Amino acid sequence: MDVNEPFRNPNLAERLLKELAADPQPAVIMEICGGQTHSLLASGLDQLLPRTLELVHGPGCPVCVTPVEMIDKAIHLAENRHVLFTTFGDMLRVPGSNSHLLAAKSRGADVRMLYSPLDALALAEQRPDKKVVFWAIGFETTAPATALAVWMARQKKVKNFSLLVSHVLVPPAMRQLLSSPQNRVQAFLAAGHVCAVTGWQPYQAIAEEFHTPIVVTGFEPVDLLLGIHRAMQLLRSGCGRVDNAYGRVVRRCGNEAALNRIAEVYCQCDRTWRGLGLIPASGLRLRDEFAEYDAEKIFDLQSNHAAQTGPCISGLILQGLKKPSDCPLFSVDCTPEHPLGAPMVSAEGACAAYYHYKTR
Ligand code: SF4
Repeated sequence: MDVNEPFRNPNLAERLLKELAADPQPAVIMEICGGQTHSLLASGLDQLLPRTLELVHGPGCPVCVTPVEMIDKAIHLAENRHVLFTTFGDMLRVPGSNSHLLAAKSRGADVRMLYSPLDALALAEQRPDKKVVFWAIGFETTAPATALAVWMARQKKVKNFSLLVSHVLVPPAMRQLLSSPQNRVQAFLAAGHVCAVTGWQPYQAIAEEFHTPIVVTGFEPVDLLLGIHRAMQLLRSGCGRVDNAYGRVVRRCGNEAALNRIAEVYCQCDRTWRGLGLIPASGLRLRDEFAEYDAEKIFDLQSNHAAQTGPCISGLILQGLKKPSDCPLFSVDCTPEHPLGAPMVSAEGACAAYYHYKTR
């Protein structure tokens, strides 16, 4: 039997919804992960929750938080004729200052969409005439695989492989949101797949310091309702602590092998997030021992600060201050076919979720 099947049970969902409806306490809860946003809207749960309960959508979409300056760097690198540039598919259409990777590809750049950094390493072995670069984006979920690719490249002595690293970490972003004077978030649904790697332990200090409930939550409809239900229970009892509502996947200390591989290859660094700005110690960079695999060093890429311009309000959406439907461009000028901002491009973007599930 599919282990997720009980978490799609309509009877259980109905019972949880009834209990939530009986609780009149208003609350603003942020689901961190874009995958959770899509699941909430796809299942129609957002329509069934009591009106006193507001869900806002967090910065857990890696494509959405990658800043314009990093996209410009990727395009610059891809246009180097010695480079074979590889990345996950969603990154191809995310707008930089003036262009995107798909446009660079149409101009002749060798840009390929891959599903795994290990495929990029294999490509490097097949194409010694090219410098193969993999754009390593994502949270703690994708970092173990990119760390493994670099580690294997060193084991195999592959010299024409490197990473453009844009990995970001969830806990520092949560701190940033909670520290903001504009913050509205009273409780978080933490992303279950991120916690499968990190464990829930790193969230405990945040929950205590900001006296904010954090519930580790999965992705099925009943998972999401359980997460919301437990968040409401914690809010009612005034408890600032972590609750694990995704026990079939997440343990307190996470995946030790994955964490060890990340720690061996990467160290923490300050990183700029789209919409949130520079967040101290919120990113990963390659350790100095792996500098020969660092595309920024190999190609001497310069950081040119490029702020997002134009009317896109994605920064406010990622902070839970606005909803996609508040954007005047939503579904008028900005659609998945003609995206003007990253949250409309990404499969995990909140604007794409609203477009697919709310406008039809
Ligand atoms: S609808 Fe488009 S322009 Fe508006 S916030 Fe979303 S991505 Fe940006």
